[in-house]
Amino acid sequence: MTKLEKLVAGYKDFHQKYFVEDHELYARLARGGQSPSIAMVACSDSRVDPSIITNAQPGELFVVRNVANLIPPYQPDSAYHGTSAALEFAVQGLGVEHIIVCGHRHCAGIRHLVAQPDKHGNGEQSFVNSWMRIVDDVKDEVCSHHSHLDAGEQAHLCERKAIEHSLRNLRSFPWIRDRVNAGKLALHGWYLDIEEGMLYTFDHSAGTWEAIR
Ligand SMILES: [Zn+2]
Repeated sequence: MTKLEKLVAGYKDFHQKYFVEDHELYARLARGGQSPSIAMVACSDSRVDPSIITNAQPGELFVVRNVANLIPPYQPDSAYHGTSAALEFAVQGLGVEHIIVCGHRHCAGIRHLVAQPDKHGNGEQSFVNSWMRIVDDVKDEVCSHHSHLDAGEQAHLCERKAIEHSLRNLRSFPWIRDRVNAGKLALHGWYLDIEEGMLYTFDHSAGTWEAIR
């Protein structure tokens, strides 16, 4: 069986489960539309699929995935802002009550950022280089305060600090900030250590990461 055939077989299992054995869930979701109360912004990395790591069912999780699970700052211009558009739909269209920014260990996007010699991207044009510039300040902070660490350890720190930075950027969107201030929307930072199999959550008041036991 090729890898593509394996996916098609997987689709057939999905079809059997949700459209033959128990079709009520999709019938309801198709009739009534989706109304997830949680949005998750996760990395595109194949090892950290939001629905798999949370065992979420169809209709429960509104998912946005991009390189390194970054939230760009609020920039109301005519550029193609895919992540901001998805957030706008989740918050203003669906009225989600929670946004989780979920990062992970061994993130290739963050490792790329740490390995870049020139933060201003004067080298080769690359969409990844431009995108990762969102967290240039995180890299600067980690490299200047933790210069004694090797690149792997710096990346490990950057992965978590980039989530904290994205949580701050979420608040730069006026319709997110207003809902957070009104107590209608909560922002969460999650970090999945795929080496330990541990999930950490960010404690906003203490500024620390706590393992979920
Ligand atoms: Zn990643």
